[in-house]
Amino acid sequence: MDLIDDDVLAAFGLPVEAPEAPREPAPIAEYTGALRGEMRDPETVRRYILGGHGTFTARSLRTGSRLTFRLSRPRHSDAGDARIYVRVLTGPENTADYTWLGTFRTADRDWRGRTYAAGWTHSRKSDIGESAPSARTVAWLLPRVLRGGRHLDAVMEQTEFWHEGRCGACGRKLTVPESIKSGIGPVCAGRAA
Ligand SMILES: [Zn+2]
Repeated sequence: MDLIDDDVLAAFGLPVEAPEAPREPAPIAEYTGALRGEMRDPETVRRYILGGHGTFTARSLRTGSRLTFRLSRPRHSDAGDARIYVRVLTGPENTADYTWLGTFRTADRDWRGRTYAAGWTHSRKSDIGESAPSARTVAWLLPRVLRGGRHLDAVMEQTEFWHEGRCGACGRKLTVPESIKSGIGPVCAGRAA
């Protein structure tokens, strides 16, 4: 199986489709005011993303371009709900300018026992086309994060992952320096241990 789709990687090098967005986005640290940090360990990245509440930036080591994604869970979901909603940053205001992309399912079954295919589903309601760089990037990235192991290792060889200062497990702002490496706040880290 070909782990690295060159076509998708090439797409990763292109800016997000947003005519009004600046060519060079402002450094993220400038507009978050949160404790962002790089996640270097694959298991940390996996845990953060599968937590379903974080905001992360993936930066291509090949092209230097980056995309920021915001994750959230359905509003009234319980612990058994495998859906993670994904939005992508398409403007300069990183608190508001996120555009809906689609749903990432982390299990084959939902909490009611209905079956679905785990993985990425691009939403037909998204303003961003399925062939846009951001859409193709998540379609490449998220299934490999879910599989983990060598699949995720292959991604991490060419991608930097930064959390943007929100706890991956609950979405609250990280305020404790010890949380910078993991992206998980002390309360949620204690819960998982
Ligand atoms: Zn938390």
